[in-house]
Amino acid sequence: MVDQGKVYLIGSGPGDPELMTIKARKLIDSADVIVFDQLPGKEILDSLPDKAEKVDAGKYAGNHKLTQDEINNILIQKAQEGKRVVRLKGGDPYIFGRGAEEAEELIKAGIEFEVVPGITSAIAVPAYAGIPITHRNHASMALFMTGHEDPTKEESGLDWEFLAGFEGTIVILMGVKMLEKNIGALIEHGKNPKTPIAIIERGTRPDQRVTISDLANIVDVANEKGVKAPAITVIGDVVKISEVLGIMCTCN
Ligand code: SAH
Repeated sequence: MVDQGKVYLIGSGPGDPELMTIKARKLIDSADVIVFDQLPGKEILDSLPDKAEKVDAGKYAGNHKLTQDEINNILIQKAQEGKRVVRLKGGDPYIFGRGAEEAEELIKAGIEFEVVPGITSAIAVPAYAGIPITHRNHASMALFMTGHEDPTKEESGLDWEFLAGFEGTIVILMGVKMLEKNIGALIEHGKNPKTPIAIIERGTRPDQRVTISDLANIVDVANEKGVKAPAITVIGDVVKISEVLGIMCTCN
Protein backbone atom coordinates (compact mmCIF):
# COMPACT_ATOMS: atom_id res chain seq x y z
CA MET A 1 0.00 0.00 0.00
CA VAL A 2 1.26 3.49 -0.85
CA ASP A 3 1.68 6.05 1.90
CA GLN A 4 -1.09 8.60 1.79
CA GLY A 5 -0.35 11.99 0.33
CA LYS A 6 -1.51 15.32 1.61
CA VAL A 7 -3.70 18.14 0.36
CA TYR A 8 -2.64 21.78 0.67
CA LEU A 9 -5.51 24.26 0.50
CA ILE A 10 -3.68 27.29 -0.81
CA GLY A 11 -4.74 30.89 -1.34
CA SER A 12 -2.89 32.48 -4.26
CA GLY A 13 -3.64 36.07 -3.23
CA PRO A 14 -5.52 38.68 -5.25
CA GLY A 15 -3.75 38.28 -8.60
CA ASP A 16 -0.39 40.06 -8.55
CA PRO A 17 1.98 37.02 -8.44
CA GLU A 18 4.26 38.86 -6.02
CA LEU A 19 1.42 38.99 -3.51
CA MET A 20 1.50 35.22 -3.15
CA THR A 21 3.11 33.90 0.04
CA ILE A 22 6.51 32.22 -0.10
CA LYS A 23 4.95 29.14 1.44
CA ALA A 24 2.33 28.96 -1.31
CA ARG A 25 4.96 29.37 -4.04
CA LYS A 26 7.17 26.61 -2.59
CA LEU A 27 4.29 24.16 -2.23
CA ILE A 28 3.03 24.88 -5.75
CA ASP A 29 6.49 24.33 -7.19
CA SER A 30 6.83 20.95 -5.47
CA ALA A 31 3.28 19.68 -6.09
CA ASP A 32 2.45 16.45 -7.94
CA VAL A 33 -1.10 17.57 -8.70
CA ILE A 34 -2.63 21.07 -8.80
CA VAL A 35 -6.39 21.50 -8.82
CA PHE A 36 -7.17 25.11 -9.67
CA ASP A 37 -9.94 27.61 -10.42
CA GLN A 38 -9.63 30.54 -12.82
CA LEU A 39 -9.74 33.15 -10.02
CA PRO A 40 -5.96 33.17 -9.31
CA GLY A 41 -5.63 34.83 -12.75
CA LYS A 42 -3.59 34.24 -15.88
CA GLU A 43 -0.20 35.31 -14.58
CA ILE A 44 -0.30 32.86 -11.70
CA LEU A 45 -1.87 30.04 -13.70
CA ASP A 46 0.82 30.47 -16.40
CA SER A 47 3.47 30.04 -13.70
CA LEU A 48 2.32 26.59 -12.55
CA PRO A 49 5.15 24.06 -12.94
CA ASP A 50 5.13 21.88 -16.07
CA LYS A 51 5.86 18.72 -14.16
CA ALA A 52 2.68 18.85 -12.08
CA GLU A 53 -0.54 17.25 -13.24
CA LYS A 54 -3.08 20.07 -13.61
CA VAL A 55 -6.82 19.81 -13.13
CA ASP A 56 -8.99 22.80 -14.06
CA ALA A 57 -11.91 22.64 -11.62
CA GLY A 58 -13.80 25.24 -13.65
CA LYS A 59 -13.63 23.16 -16.86
CA TYR A 60 -16.64 21.43 -18.20
CA ALA A 61 -16.59 17.68 -17.74
CA GLY A 62 -19.09 16.27 -20.20
CA ASN A 63 -21.65 19.04 -20.25
CA HIS A 64 -21.29 20.38 -16.74
CA LYS A 65 -18.70 22.16 -14.62
CA LEU A 66 -16.94 19.94 -12.12
CA THR A 67 -19.32 19.77 -9.18
CA GLN A 68 -18.11 20.34 -5.64
CA ASP A 69 -18.44 16.57 -5.06
CA GLU A 70 -16.30 15.81 -8.09
CA ILE A 71 -13.64 18.26 -6.91
CA ASN A 72 -13.67 16.72 -3.43
CA ASN A 73 -13.34 13.24 -4.94
CA ILE A 74 -10.36 14.22 -7.07
CA LEU A 75 -8.58 15.70 -4.04
CA ILE A 76 -9.27 12.57 -1.98
CA GLN A 77 -8.36 10.12 -4.72
CA LYS A 78 -5.07 11.83 -5.62
CA ALA A 79 -4.06 12.01 -1.97
CA GLN A 80 -4.88 8.33 -1.55
CA GLU A 81 -2.51 7.62 -4.45
CA GLY A 82 0.23 9.17 -2.33
CA LYS A 83 0.39 12.50 -4.20
CA ARG A 84 1.19 15.96 -2.87
CA VAL A 85 -1.94 17.76 -3.94
CA VAL A 86 -2.33 21.53 -4.14
CA ARG A 87 -5.86 22.92 -4.18
CA LEU A 88 -5.27 26.43 -5.48
CA LYS A 89 -7.82 29.18 -4.91
CA GLY A 90 -7.86 32.94 -5.45
CA GLY A 91 -7.35 35.22 -2.46
CA ASP A 92 -7.72 33.34 0.81
CA PRO A 93 -9.18 29.83 0.70
CA TYR A 94 -11.50 30.38 3.66
CA ILE A 95 -13.02 33.69 2.50
CA PHE A 96 -15.99 32.85 0.26
CA GLY A 97 -13.81 30.21 -1.31
CA ARG A 98 -15.43 26.94 -0.22
CA GLY A 99 -12.08 26.00 1.29
CA ALA A 100 -13.68 25.01 4.56
CA GLU A 101 -16.18 22.75 2.80
CA GLU A 102 -13.35 20.96 1.04
CA ALA A 103 -11.37 20.67 4.27
CA GLU A 104 -14.39 19.09 5.98
CA GLU A 105 -14.61 16.45 3.27
CA LEU A 106 -10.89 15.72 3.55
CA ILE A 107 -11.24 15.21 7.30
CA LYS A 108 -14.19 12.87 6.74
CA ALA A 109 -12.09 10.83 4.32
CA GLY A 110 -9.15 10.74 6.75
CA ILE A 111 -6.87 12.74 4.45
CA GLU A 112 -4.18 14.94 5.94
CA PHE A 113 -4.48 18.57 4.89
CA GLU A 114 -2.96 21.95 5.58
CA VAL A 115 -4.37 25.40 4.91
CA VAL A 116 -2.10 28.13 3.54
CA PRO A 117 -3.87 31.48 3.97
CA GLY A 118 -3.64 33.97 1.14
CA ILE A 119 -4.04 37.73 0.97
CA THR A 120 -7.75 38.14 0.40
CA SER A 121 -8.98 40.34 -2.44
CA ALA A 122 -11.44 41.81 0.07
CA ILE A 123 -8.60 43.83 1.61
CA ALA A 124 -5.86 43.94 -1.02
CA VAL A 125 -8.00 45.03 -3.97
CA PRO A 126 -9.34 48.14 -2.21
CA ALA A 127 -5.78 48.88 -1.04
CA TYR A 128 -4.50 48.89 -4.63
CA ALA A 129 -7.24 51.39 -5.47
CA GLY A 130 -6.17 53.68 -2.62
CA ILE A 131 -8.95 52.61 -0.27
CA PRO A 132 -8.05 51.50 3.27
CA ILE A 133 -11.03 49.56 4.62
CA THR A 134 -10.55 51.08 8.08
CA HIS A 135 -9.33 54.56 8.96
CA ARG A 136 -9.21 56.27 12.34
CA ASN A 137 -11.34 59.19 11.11
CA HIS A 138 -13.69 57.39 8.73
CA ALA A 139 -14.40 53.78 9.70
CA SER A 140 -13.83 51.85 12.91
CA MET A 141 -15.47 48.70 11.60
CA ALA A 142 -15.64 46.75 8.36
CA LEU A 143 -17.57 43.73 7.16
CA PHE A 144 -17.38 41.32 4.24
CA MET A 145 -20.53 40.09 2.57
CA THR A 146 -21.51 38.10 -0.47
CA GLY A 147 -23.36 40.05 -3.12
CA HIS A 148 -24.53 36.86 -4.70
CA GLU A 149 -27.68 36.37 -2.70
CA ASP A 150 -30.92 37.72 -4.04
CA PRO A 151 -32.09 40.33 -1.50
CA THR A 152 -35.71 39.67 -2.46
CA LYS A 153 -35.53 35.97 -1.60
CA GLU A 154 -37.45 35.04 1.51
CA GLU A 155 -34.79 33.25 3.54
CA SER A 156 -31.87 35.62 3.01
CA GLY A 157 -28.78 35.11 5.13
CA LEU A 158 -28.28 38.88 4.92
CA ASP A 159 -29.92 41.36 7.27
CA TRP A 160 -30.53 44.39 5.05
CA GLU A 161 -31.81 46.50 7.90
CA PHE A 162 -28.57 45.91 9.78
CA LEU A 163 -26.46 46.48 6.65
CA ALA A 164 -28.22 49.78 5.84
CA GLY A 165 -27.59 51.02 9.37
CA PHE A 166 -23.99 49.74 9.59
CA GLU A 167 -21.64 52.67 10.25
CA GLY A 168 -18.48 50.96 9.02
CA THR A 169 -17.13 49.91 5.62
CA ILE A 170 -19.03 47.26 3.67
CA VAL A 171 -16.98 45.12 1.29
CA ILE A 172 -19.00 43.06 -1.16
CA LEU A 173 -17.56 40.05 -2.98
CA MET A 174 -19.31 38.47 -5.96
CA GLY A 175 -21.52 41.54 -6.25
CA VAL A 176 -21.62 42.48 -9.94
CA LYS A 177 -24.66 40.54 -11.13
CA MET A 178 -26.83 41.61 -8.21
CA LEU A 179 -25.52 45.18 -8.00
CA GLU A 180 -28.81 46.85 -8.83
CA LYS A 181 -30.83 44.70 -6.42
CA ASN A 182 -28.30 45.05 -3.60
CA ILE A 183 -27.98 48.82 -3.91
CA GLY A 184 -31.75 49.07 -4.17
CA ALA A 185 -32.14 47.03 -0.97
CA LEU A 186 -29.64 49.21 0.92
CA ILE A 187 -31.35 52.46 -0.11
CA GLU A 188 -34.79 51.03 0.57
CA HIS A 189 -33.69 50.11 4.09
CA GLY A 190 -32.50 53.64 4.73
CA LYS A 191 -28.86 53.88 3.65
CA ASN A 192 -27.95 57.42 2.54
CA PRO A 193 -28.00 57.48 -1.31
CA LYS A 194 -25.00 59.84 -1.19
CA THR A 195 -22.79 57.17 0.47
CA PRO A 196 -19.61 56.79 -1.60
CA ILE A 197 -19.07 53.49 -3.41
CA ALA A 198 -16.22 52.02 -5.43
CA ILE A 199 -16.15 48.99 -7.69
CA ILE A 200 -12.72 47.62 -8.48
CA GLU A 201 -12.46 45.12 -11.31
CA ARG A 202 -9.51 42.75 -11.73
CA GLY A 203 -7.78 44.31 -8.74
CA THR A 204 -3.96 44.15 -8.44
CA ARG A 205 -3.77 42.91 -12.05
CA PRO A 206 -2.31 44.96 -14.89
CA ASP A 207 -5.80 45.80 -16.18
CA GLN A 208 -7.30 46.86 -12.84
CA ARG A 209 -10.14 49.37 -13.26
CA VAL A 210 -11.70 51.53 -10.54
CA THR A 211 -15.19 53.04 -10.75
CA ILE A 212 -16.23 55.53 -8.09
CA SER A 213 -19.67 57.03 -7.54
CA ASP A 214 -22.39 57.16 -4.89
CA LEU A 215 -25.19 54.71 -4.14
CA ALA A 216 -27.75 56.76 -6.08
CA ASN A 217 -25.74 56.70 -9.32
CA ILE A 218 -23.50 53.64 -9.26
CA VAL A 219 -25.85 51.33 -11.16
CA ASP A 220 -26.02 53.68 -14.17
CA VAL A 221 -22.30 54.37 -14.07
CA ALA A 222 -21.45 50.66 -13.81
CA ASN A 223 -23.77 49.79 -16.70
CA GLU A 224 -22.28 52.53 -18.83
CA LYS A 225 -18.76 51.28 -18.19
CA GLY A 226 -19.71 47.62 -18.59
CA VAL A 227 -18.40 46.61 -15.17
CA LYS A 228 -17.71 42.86 -15.02
CA ALA A 229 -16.69 40.21 -12.48
CA PRO A 230 -14.36 39.63 -10.73
CA ALA A 231 -14.86 42.85 -8.84
CA ILE A 232 -14.82 44.08 -5.26
CA THR A 233 -17.38 46.65 -4.17
CA VAL A 234 -16.57 48.97 -1.27
CA ILE A 235 -19.24 51.12 0.37
CA GLY A 236 -18.49 53.81 2.93
CA ASP A 237 -16.66 57.05 3.59
CA VAL A 238 -13.24 55.41 3.19
CA VAL A 239 -13.86 55.42 -0.57
CA LYS A 240 -13.20 59.18 -0.51
CA ILE A 241 -9.64 58.56 0.68
CA SER A 242 -8.85 57.17 -2.77
CA GLU A 243 -8.81 60.79 -3.96
CA VAL A 244 -5.57 61.12 -2.02
CA LEU A 245 -4.12 57.60 -1.84
CA GLY A 246 -5.29 56.44 -5.27
CA ILE A 247 -3.38 59.18 -7.03
CA MET A 248 -0.22 57.09 -7.24
CA CYS A 249 -2.05 54.25 -8.95
CA THR A 250 -1.35 54.62 -12.66
CA CYS A 251 -3.47 51.66 -13.67
CA ASN A 252 -6.97 53.15 -13.60
N1 SAH B 1 -11.32 33.59 -1.72
C1 SAH B 1 -11.35 34.80 -2.52
C2 SAH B 1 -12.76 35.21 -2.87
C3 SAH B 1 -13.54 34.17 -3.65
S1 SAH B 1 -15.15 34.71 -4.12
C4 SAH B 1 -10.56 35.90 -1.79
O1 SAH B 1 -10.25 35.77 -0.62
O2 SAH B 1 -10.23 36.91 -2.44
C5 SAH B 1 -14.85 35.43 -5.68
C6 SAH B 1 -14.93 36.92 -5.61
O3 SAH B 1 -13.71 37.45 -5.11
C7 SAH B 1 -15.11 37.64 -6.91
O4 SAH B 1 -16.45 37.62 -7.34
C8 SAH B 1 -14.67 39.04 -6.54
O5 SAH B 1 -15.67 39.70 -5.79
C9 SAH B 1 -13.52 38.76 -5.61
N2 SAH B 1 -12.19 38.84 -6.25
C10 SAH B 1 -11.21 37.91 -6.17
N3 SAH B 1 -10.09 38.34 -6.78
C11 SAH B 1 -10.38 39.59 -7.26
C12 SAH B 1 -9.62 40.57 -7.97
N4 SAH B 1 -8.35 40.39 -8.31
N5 SAH B 1 -10.24 41.73 -8.28
C13 SAH B 1 -11.51 41.98 -7.94
N6 SAH B 1 -12.27 41.09 -7.27
C14 SAH B 1 -11.71 39.90 -6.92
